[in-house]
Amino acid sequence: MTDIYSMTRSGLEKWFSERGDNPAKAAILFQWLYQRDLRSFDELPFSDRVKSAMTDSFTMELPETAARVGDEVTEKLLLRLPGGESGDDHVETVLMRQKYGDSVCISTQVGCAMGCAFCQSGRLKKRRSLTAGEMTAQVLKMRRLGAEIHSITVMGIGEPFDNFSAVRDFCEIASDYNGLALGEKHITVSTCGIVPGIMAWSALPHPCSLAVSLHAADNDLRSMLMPINRRYPVGNVIAAAAEFAELHNRRVTLEYVMLSGVNDSPEQAQQLANLIGFSKRFYVNIIPCNGNDSGFIPSTRDRIMAFYDVLKKNGISVTMRREFGGGISAACGQLSSDFSDQKSRL
Ligand code: SF4
Repeated sequence: MTDIYSMTRSGLEKWFSERGDNPAKAAILFQWLYQRDLRSFDELPFSDRVKSAMTDSFTMELPETAARVGDEVTEKLLLRLPGGESGDDHVETVLMRQKYGDSVCISTQVGCAMGCAFCQSGRLKKRRSLTAGEMTAQVLKMRRLGAEIHSITVMGIGEPFDNFSAVRDFCEIASDYNGLALGEKHITVSTCGIVPGIMAWSALPHPCSLAVSLHAADNDLRSMLMPINRRYPVGNVIAAAAEFAELHNRRVTLEYVMLSGVNDSPEQAQQLANLIGFSKRFYVNIIPCNGNDSGFIPSTRDRIMAFYDVLKKNGISVTMRREFGGGISAACGQLSSDFSDQKSRL
């Protein structure tokens, strides 16, 4: 049995064709699944024969909500995924309500193998990668709570390019006009800098937007903060991201979390400007550190402003992310799939 939410429209077209049915049924099925909130195959406007074949071939279940916390702007769900190797797995999904529409941040793996020093999620050993359907389900769960989703960030627990094909299929479902119908520019996949992944993403015909977690412009510091930098040095990451931006005429977001006394000096801002100033397609998103228990201290507002000013003076596009969800551990680097920890917070 295959999870219906893992199927791309082209995969369903193939399934219908192979059975001698009209592949155009795939578009109808997609509309019912993603725009009419289908709850049972019996509701479909297909013959009994087709509906029965679908019931025999596909499952259609969303994960159970194990915990839910939130405030007026942010909501976090802990979802139970049945049947992991050592019992049920749990993943987190975060909804952020913004003026221009709701944004959902999804996880791509249970735990993460990348081990970034500042990241709460990185301390959870990777147990497995999620399927495309498990990613799609995170968005559907939020929609069933009434969210009107305007954008998706693939920035929760896990490294998307360590789970490339499932993330690619999820993005295909999310951007399909018969599916979740979000434009490719409204879906952003954030990598810690896996260069072959960036290049493969670039080679897709219609890739969703790209963000890179940068956090330092020099190799020594970045390798300390993000071990993946030893394999793919920062210069190579920036070169691959610039190539993506040129090829697809997109801007690439560079995420930069401000860690007091570590990466937040004006000199380090200058170093960053020198690294990326060759392209107007980069913009830096400065993120205040949330003060999780990783041992790093949030930069002061003065320090952040001085950093911001240096980038601005160098002609770099820069924004400062409004901090969402710090109070419920839903902010970047604070997601955690430790269920007992969640229960104690609740
Ligand atoms: S920042 Fe992202 S890639 Fe790094 S450990 Fe955390 S979840 Fe993994």
